Amino acid sequence: MKFASRIDKVPPYLFVEISRKIAAKRAQGIEVISFGIGDPDIPTPVNVVERLRETALDAPNHRYPETDGLPEFRQEVAGWYQRRFGISVDPDKETLPLIGAKEGIGHVALCFIEPGDLALVPDPGYPVYSVGTWFAGGECYWMPLLEENGWLPDLDAIPAEAARKAKVLWLNYPNNPTGAIAELDFFKKAVDFAKEYDIAVMHDASYSEVAYDGYRPVSFLQTPGAMEVGVEFHSLSKSYNMTGWRLGMVVGNEDIIKALMVVKSNLDSGVPNAIQYMGIEAMRTSQHAIDERNAIYQGRRDRVVEVLRGIGLDAIPPKASLYVWTRVPAGYSSAEITELLLEECDLVVTPGNGYGKYGEGYIRLSLTINNEDMEKGLSRLANWKAPAPR
Ligand SMILES: *Cc1c(COP(=O)(O)O)cnc(C)c1O
Repeated sequence: MKFASRIDKVPPYLFVEISRKIAAKRAQGIEVISFGIGDPDIPTPVNVVERLRETALDAPNHRYPETDGLPEFRQEVAGWYQRRFGISVDPDKETLPLIGAKEGIGHVALCFIEPGDLALVPDPGYPVYSVGTWFAGGECYWMPLLEENGWLPDLDAIPAEAARKAKVLWLNYPNNPTGAIAELDFFKKAVDFAKEYDIAVMHDASYSEVAYDGYRPVSFLQTPGAMEVGVEFHSLSKSYNMTGWRLGMVVGNEDIIKALMVVKSNLDSGVPNAIQYMGIEAMRTSQHAIDERNAIYQGRRDRVVEVLRGIGLDAIPPKASLYVWTRVPAGYSSAEITELLLEECDLVVTPGNGYGKYGEGYIRLSLTINNEDMEKGLSRLANWKAPAPR
């Protein structure tokens, strides 16, 4: 057999070595607590699961779904956009259901990228932006996200030559892994930049509903001109604790949605109808219920930040997302601190360099861990003697 080079091009899964050590510890009966995974521990709302139970029994839902989804699903997405962000979108031309945001993010690269093309990709960033680009034969121009810029890319620093070769610009706010947010003035710059260089903007808004202290994240599509140049990806995974059901959507520019339909209708057959009905139910969740859920994460966020500060790390509470992103003691690498935490406290965190070289010097702690395990983990952390800067 001869495998395609794209299979080797994907960097080895960051967690391979760590997973091996965790497995070894667990085999010895050691209780390892993980702050590593961004997967809500809180279950899907009961009414949403009930909707699956009902609609699963309807025989028409046992047949192939349409790639562009149920009209009712698309209308619910448009209604949600209107209620949540105050913008009108055409349900039939400007929305499309996805088998999770990840599926759309990966597939959309095939709509734009030809061998040798560039995608502008944030570093650190969610890995699918770069992997999707590589699978399509393209290359990444890495945009450093730096603490001093509030973790926003400096679009003016992108050389004109790279911008001219670029087909897409990837953005993600609220951001994984940094927890940073963007406001409309930044998105306006992105729209101007995209128009100047004829680039499509892909905004990943998977964390738009996970926010704290009363903050409500904005939509990229609220920016004047955004509909002309881009789309926004949403995920019901983080918004409604639905990672296991695989449901998301893309909203925005009609031509981009049409191109993605070409890809998807030839590679997958869309989202099972019963899962779309779950999505319809979920999008009707009251803001009150979302606020209650966010209050749980906010309490955990505050505890994690408190304990990190207690051991001398300067953690900043994020306004949104599921992650606390914090700098490691000076003179240590992300991997060294990750290793020390596993060896000395049986705790798993994610090393920042796994999200790109500009993530070096940071670690990420996820808030999707039940309160009991979290407290157990945090008490180990509070008693840990973090190494002094060297
Ligand atoms: C979790 C996550 C996704 C994937 O969402 P799914 O809808 O579960 O595929 C996409 N983007 C970011 C930044 C994420 O953290």
